[in-house]
Amino acid sequence: MPERYWLETLGCPKNQVDSEKLAGTLVAGGLEPADDPSRADVVVVNTCAFIEAARQESVDTVLALADGAKPGARLVVTGCMAERYGDELARALPEVDLVAPFGTPVLPPPAPSPVAFLGTARRGDPRPGRGAGTVGGAEPAAPVPSFDLLELPRPPTRAPWAYVKVAEGCDRSCGFCAIPSFRGPQRSRTADAVLAEVDGLASGDRPLAEVVLVAQDLASFGLDRSGGGTRPQRGAVRPLVELVRRVADRVPWVRLLYLYPSSLDDELVDAVLATGVPYFDLSLQHVSRPLLHRMRRWGEGDRFLDRIAAVRSAERGAAFRSSFIVGYPGETEEDHDRLLAWLAEARLDWAGFFPFSPEDGTPAAGLDGRVPDELVRERIDECTELQDAITATRRDELIGSTVQVLVDEPGRGRTYREAPEIDGVVELVGAAGGGAVGEVVSAEVVAAEGSDLVAELVPCGVAR
Ligand code: SF4
Repeated sequence: MPERYWLETLGCPKNQVDSEKLAGTLVAGGLEPADDPSRADVVVVNTCAFIEAARQESVDTVLALADGAKPGARLVVTGCMAERYGDELARALPEVDLVAPFGTPVLPPPAPSPVAFLGTARRGDPRPGRGAGTVGGAEPAAPVPSFDLLELPRPPTRAPWAYVKVAEGCDRSCGFCAIPSFRGPQRSRTADAVLAEVDGLASGDRPLAEVVLVAQDLASFGLDRSGGGTRPQRGAVRPLVELVRRVADRVPWVRLLYLYPSSLDDELVDAVLATGVPYFDLSLQHVSRPLLHRMRRWGEGDRFLDRIAAVRSAERGAAFRSSFIVGYPGETEEDHDRLLAWLAEARLDWAGFFPFSPEDGTPAAGLDGRVPDELVRERIDECTELQDAITATRRDELIGSTVQVLVDEPGRGRTYREAPEIDGVVELVGAAGGGAVGEVVSAEVVAAEGSDLVAELVPCGVAR
């Protein structure tokens, strides 16, 4: 009987794509998925090391799965924590059979063995002319994992939507972010490789209805292949624009996550609007100019507001999401008040607020002006309370309107305003049975419940 595996994924959508690629390699290795972790012969945890809270969750998950594993099962830890803290993890977690950083095999030897840390074969920047230069401003040269999961095959998706990762690594140097130091500089896939993956994701009986493109710095997709930098060369079309157009030719809905704000130029806005999914996930982090300067990031609140207003004037129903760091070193009451005022004016559909976490090796870890934890919590509560009220109002405003809903599962779906697994959902009610999974149906919004909507199917042929 073939061995069975369980794959537990923590962290962001980018990690979820990695897990699907890992699943592809496990299946290719002769394993089958288990229906429960306690019945698996190999339990793999794909960890997240984004901030301290995410690391704690990863460790707690590993320990819980170790507790519930069947005798003789092998426990493997991979992902960002394995990459950043591999040897430490291997020492600290004797329950684990194997710590496997990016690009190393996750199948441990079948016999009981002392915990192993495979380590990562390092090499310099593989791109022409780049050598082993620096990434992230003053930070040391970023290592590059020995190979990426990007090009590995993955199984067809069971949901009518799928994340597709188009690049790995990042060429920016945000003061708080450790990603370039362990994911390396950006390496984009070719558009053809991305499209081949999109084509392979549809399962036999159901076409793929939505592709969600992800990368650490999505708008910079392809720029590393065409001269580098974070802007297209003068007169050139941004590679992401081309890619969005080509994916939109294949799939009804295309959604983009993580857009660095300076990249949101007219060309990219037009490309997004042309897909019929006017959803903009802007990575803003804050709105105070001095604080953004300390974060080594572009922009400030008024410029962001101008950009959002321009998009809304082109498409009134455009939906916006962003995330913000609260308590970055040096954040003053004035900065915080500025953020609150900005949120009230911007009226984003969705926003997330994260406490600053000093990451080893980042410039921000050494900055003065630490904000006390209690004050950070208070500020997050204020931001969350305000944003929750804005989100609820924006959801209420949809009551009575007819929306297009992609059915994710029987009785439940999303409009273009909701990214899968991130934003709210739409509960579908009505006599027509909820629509088939993967279908886009018309429905009238009859209620809003927090971030979720309740919508009644509009029977075919009935115009409202
Ligand atoms: S753009 Fe994103 S991934 Fe890149 S350094 Fe900044 S925060 Fe990190």
